[in-house]
Amino acid sequence: MRPATKTSTGKELEVKYGLPRKVKFCKICCITNQRPCSVNEYSHSSDSKKKTIVFDEEGICAACRNKEKQHQEIDWEDRDKKLRDLCDRFRRDDGYYDCIVPGSGGKDSVFASHLLKYKYGMHPLTVTWSPHMYTEIGWKNFQNWIHKGGFDNYLLTPNGKVHRLLTRLAVINLLHPFQPFILGQKTFVAKMCARFNIPLAFYGEMPGEYGTTEGTSLGDEMKFADLPGAGFSKDMIGGRDLKELYLGGTKVGELIEEYGLHMNDLLAYFPLDYATFVEKKIEIYYLGYFVKWDPQECYYFSVDKVGFEANPVRTEGTYSKYNSLDDKIDGFFYYTSHIKFGMGRAMQDAAQEVRNKKITTEEGKALIKKFDGEFPVRYYKEFLEYTGLTDQEFKDLCDKFRSPHLWAKVNGERSERSEWKLRHTVNQDGVDD
Ligand SMILES: [Zn+2]
Repeated sequence: MRPATKTSTGKELEVKYGLPRKVKFCKICCITNQRPCSVNEYSHSSDSKKKTIVFDEEGICAACRNKEKQHQEIDWEDRDKKLRDLCDRFRRDDGYYDCIVPGSGGKDSVFASHLLKYKYGMHPLTVTWSPHMYTEIGWKNFQNWIHKGGFDNYLLTPNGKVHRLLTRLAVINLLHPFQPFILGQKTFVAKMCARFNIPLAFYGEMPGEYGTTEGTSLGDEMKFADLPGAGFSKDMIGGRDLKELYLGGTKVGELIEEYGLHMNDLLAYFPLDYATFVEKKIEIYYLGYFVKWDPQECYYFSVDKVGFEANPVRTEGTYSKYNSLDDKIDGFFYYTSHIKFGMGRAMQDAAQEVRNKKITTEEGKALIKKFDGEFPVRYYKEFLEYTGLTDQEFKDLCDKFRSPHLWAKVNGERSERSEWKLRHTVNQDGVDD
């Protein structure tokens, strides 16, 4: 077989985004080595290079190795004690809140908030950064979280006109429809801590679960504060002029000059000023550092405690019914990830379930083959309306963002049967030009 890094004419294939040229799949969980680690979104422009998940010499990804470590080495009793000590340090009995738990009312936020309140005796304020467009089931689960779970909640909905514009730009510049949402969501938590003078917050799952090394290589690995993209890290802001930051792959200065926005329109997306973060002594942790995090268990827990509902129909692009259900844009986040990295929603779900020993590697492969990259038809019309793109414009953008080392066009450019196929798949049924 000829090397798959070249075309039939022997030309070296172009590799976009600084992805690894040689495509590999983890021998345990099937995740691709093209999977990017989280980036500092404030400097994310169309020519940013990605760091990707680390694979070892045996072809096993860092997320699987982290999981093994969890199964073998972690002393969960000790972690529980650490959490109790932390809670004791912040717990209040004067009627005010003592921690913030962000979330959407999905299974993870239900699990985190419930545990902190009812097991560890904390008094959380829950905060929510609104999805682009709530799905019916997402809204219902959100309401159940608050009403049946018994929490106070602040819901922040960013200016819809600005959010649409940024989402549109993020699709055009980065093929990343979720980027403005992520920016807002990440910085929002620290800002709520500052605003309400609640110096403790908990995120849920550790990023190390998914193989980002940043989350676990820090000396003090349970802390969120210094991670890239956390919304308030020192390096990220480092005295930079806000006008130099990127939102939706566009410089803030340009958003103001060319799109007529005011700084105030972008307030919700700007990071918290680092001096405030320090002055208010804010500490943010991953609860997943202290307690075992198993998405399926979180799901059962949420059903039991607040009547969480899975989708009545299968989520497009995957086989599962309970992961990120609340935003009509969700499907496009995963679909565009399949375009850019050859990693869709089924692959991410399957990899996680293999690691948590819910399914086998072989079952994972079969699910990926069946569902990965499926087009999210259900909310497509609303997605196009939201971003102001036509069907053709969106499809052209997708094609523009396909990296040639991942995708081949089979049956010729002009043929009616012409279609894009992955060159490499975990099932080894990839194609060449
Ligand atoms: Zn793996």
